[in-house]
Amino acid sequence: MTTGPRIAVPAGGVGAARFLRGLRIAAPDAQITVIGNTADDITLFGLRVCPDLDTVMYTLGGGIAEDQGWGRADESFHVAEELAVYGAGPDWFTLGDRDLATHVIRTQMLSAGYPLSAVTAALCERWSPGVSLLPMSDDRVETHVVIEDAGAPGGQRAVHFQEYWVRLHARPRAIDVVPVGVEDAKPGPGVLEAIATADVVLLPPSNPVVSIGTILAVPGIRAALTDTAAPVIGVSPIVGGAPVRGMADRLLEAIGVESTAAAVARHYGPELLDGWLVDERDGGLVDDVAALGIACRAVPLMMSDPQAAAQMARAAMDLAGAGRPA
Ligand code: GDP
Ligand code: CA
Repeated sequence: MTTGPRIAVPAGGVGAARFLRGLRIAAPDAQITVIGNTADDITLFGLRVCPDLDTVMYTLGGGIAEDQGWGRADESFHVAEELAVYGAGPDWFTLGDRDLATHVIRTQMLSAGYPLSAVTAALCERWSPGVSLLPMSDDRVETHVVIEDAGAPGGQRAVHFQEYWVRLHARPRAIDVVPVGVEDAKPGPGVLEAIATADVVLLPPSNPVVSIGTILAVPGIRAALTDTAAPVIGVSPIVGGAPVRGMADRLLEAIGVESTAAAVARHYGPELLDGWLVDERDGGLVDDVAALGIACRAVPLMMSDPQAAAQMARAAMDLAGAGRPA
C-alpha cells in the first residue's frame, strides 16, 4: 500500500479551513496534520469556546455555515435569545444552538480532566474532518490586544482578542498584541513530531499575527519549523495590499509590518519560509520576495470555492517540490 505525503499545516480559522478543504481535494492520499491556533479561545457563559478549532472541524466535516465561514449551517439562536432576556452578557459573541452543543461537550470533558487535545479528538470522531486536528497546546494561551482608550488610566487598556475583533471590529488602534501565557505553554501532543516528520509544511492564508504568530510563539514550534527537513511553503493572506477578509491589516500595523504580501514574507523570514505564494495581482512583488532568499510564485489566491482553494494547494505543493532543499 502506498501512503501519500505527510503534510503539516499550522492553522487559524476561516482562511485555513478553506485552504485545507482545497488541500484535501488536491492531495487526497496525503496524511494531513493540522496544528490549530487556540489563542482565540474564550470562556462564555461558563463554556469553553475554541473558534479556530471548530471552524476547521466544521468546514472539513461539512457542517459550516458556508457564506459566513464560521458557525454551523442551518443554525437557530433560541438559547442566545433566552440568555438575552435574562440580561446575561456578552451579547456580541454569537453562539447558535447547534454550536452550543459542541461547547457543552468540550467543557464537560475539560472539567472531567481531559486535555484539550483529547477533547478535540473526541469531537472529531463525529465530524471526520479527514485530517488529524491537534491543538497547538493543551495549555491555556489567550491573545489580548492593548488598545488606545482615552477614558482608561494611561490612555490604554487590554482586551481579549475576541472583544477587539468581534465587539470592537478592530476599530481602536492596537498598540500591542500579547499572547498571554504563551511562554509557559508546551506544544500539544504530536505537534513537534508532525513537523519533524512532515514531507511538506504549508502555512495557509491565515492571520500572520493572531493565528500563525501565536502558534509560532509556543516555545519549540518555531524551532521545529526552522529545523525540519521539509520545505515550508506559505500562502499570502494579503492580496493587493489588503486582507482578503477580516481586519488582519490592523494587527499587522500593531506589530509594525506593512500590509503587503512581500512584507508578510519578510516578517516570517527566510529561516522559516522556503517558498511563498502571492496573488497574480501582486506579481510585481515576486522579485522582492525572491531577493530575500524565498522562492516565490504568483498564482490566483482567491478561495471563491473549494476548487479554487484546491488549485492554490496544488500550487503550494508544486512549489514545495521545486523548492525542496538539497
Ligand atoms: P480567522 O481565524 O477566521 O481570522 O482565520 P485565519 O487566521 O485562518 O485567516 C484569516 C486570513 O485569511 C485573513 O487575513 C484573510 O485575508 C485570509 N483569507 C481569507 N480568505 C482568503 C482568500 O480567499 N485568499 C487569500 N489569499 N486569503 C484569504
Ligand atoms: Ca481565529
